[in-house]
Amino acid sequence: MEEMKVKIEIGLNLENSYVNLPKIFYDEQNPTPVDSPKLVILNNPLVKYLGLDVESLKNNEIIEMFAGNSMPEGANPIAQAYAGHQFGHFTMLGDGRAILLGEQITPKGERFDIQLKGPGRTRYSRGGDGRAALGPMLREYIISEAMHALGIPTTRSLAVVTTGESVIRENILPGAILTRIASSHIRVGTFQYAGEYCSHEELKALADYTLKRHFTDNNASENRYLFLLKEVIKRQASLIAKWMHVGFVHGVMNTDNMTISGESIDYGPCAFMDTYDPATVFSSIDRQGRYAYGNQPYIAGWNLTRFAETLLPLLDNNEDKAVEIAQSAISDFTDLYRSYWLSGMRSKLGIFNEETEDQELALELLNIMKENEADYTNTFIALTFDKLSDMELFSTDEFKSWYKKWQNRLDRQQESRDSSYELMRNSNPAVIPRNHRVEEALEAANKGDYSVLERLLDVISKPYAHLPEQKEYAILPKKNCTYRTFCGT
Ligand code: AMP
Ligand code: MG
Repeated sequence: MEEMKVKIEIGLNLENSYVNLPKIFYDEQNPTPVDSPKLVILNNPLVKYLGLDVESLKNNEIIEMFAGNSMPEGANPIAQAYAGHQFGHFTMLGDGRAILLGEQITPKGERFDIQLKGPGRTRYSRGGDGRAALGPMLREYIISEAMHALGIPTTRSLAVVTTGESVIRENILPGAILTRIASSHIRVGTFQYAGEYCSHEELKALADYTLKRHFTDNNASENRYLFLLKEVIKRQASLIAKWMHVGFVHGVMNTDNMTISGESIDYGPCAFMDTYDPATVFSSIDRQGRYAYGNQPYIAGWNLTRFAETLLPLLDNNEDKAVEIAQSAISDFTDLYRSYWLSGMRSKLGIFNEETEDQELALELLNIMKENEADYTNTFIALTFDKLSDMELFSTDEFKSWYKKWQNRLDRQQESRDSSYELMRNSNPAVIPRNHRVEEALEAANKGDYSVLERLLDVISKPYAHLPEQKEYAILPKKNCTYRTFCGT
């Protein structure tokens, strides 16, 4: 391992707290070098945020690092072990195509995992090649950065390089590596792994590490593992509500794709919904609609129940008591989710105070959208800018009657209409990365033209700015074709 390490003066300040966990939680693994790496895209604002030196990034050494050809000083490359329920079935997984280089300590003192996705085989690769293709890595880059700009907790993307090698999928595709940044990569599946394959002490070590890393103010708590459970439930309830507010469909909400930090992770077959329909599914492998848009809150609850099960031995020595404690915490999820959801919907409708009928008002609008097959994002934008001639939906009797109710509702608060519209501008994005735009960018990139991608990234980076150049990106695809995304590529 030593010979790969080179001193790269790029402001990296790496620590490796994860390797202090029992050895069963990871496997030391260097990336497999690649032929001829080339930089496709670099996230300059994120470079700065992490405290990396922008100037030195121009030299080739950094590209060698993003490609896994050389390791920076302080790196301790590992593949993490985890398990998970995939479409409801429990499996041993682990980083089959990801390697964690270390944890960057930013100038502000925050800690972020720096992980390569697609750097070659690991102990957990099973039959896979450990590699990734350019299209899916750029898709993750686009969607994760869009989520960040929308104000949704997410892993982020620092860079994508092509490897100069091909990967074989259904077609032969250009190989690529994404550098992913995350608060951590600890997942519900990491706890499931501990619950299934580790000792009580090892499970406890993981829980204590997680508490220390993500939940600092828990020392006074009488049952720290219950505190952990409750905090994770809270963060996930808030996260899923935010997904629902912007019409995001994750696509593979397997338990290995749910973080403990509350960040969205693993952008495979995900997409943003155009026409409002709770049954929306994009993933080609989700034939039952398990991970459909409208099912996401339910699935989050299911995943969190799996998480709670892993904590039972830590919650109480008495098994029945532990189950009771866990069930009580889990039963709070639905109410928590609903209150986060409703609070966000109020903002989307310019409502500041609370009335019991607000939920009905929001649901009624969604129902009218569904009946009229209206575009989710553009409906809210039309309401925000009072452009009610734009869409067919607005000439229906149902909508007219809803509109009156809504206006009356706005009258029943102290804030002015101006304040309401300002709140709406800050809560309703002008642009989302629509599928046809993402595809167009990926298609051009596959041919070596990155300009379409760069323009898209620029436009989606300020969704609440409502800029003239964003208008073009609010236009719907010509044909309402059924869009399909593929994961694991
Ligand atoms: P995902 O669908 O991305 O959440 O991946 C599920 C599991 O499959 C994880 O353990 C991945 O590491 C593994 N995996 C996906 N693609 C590959 C690949 N090309 N080679 C090895 N492992 C992979
Ligand atoms: Mg995954």
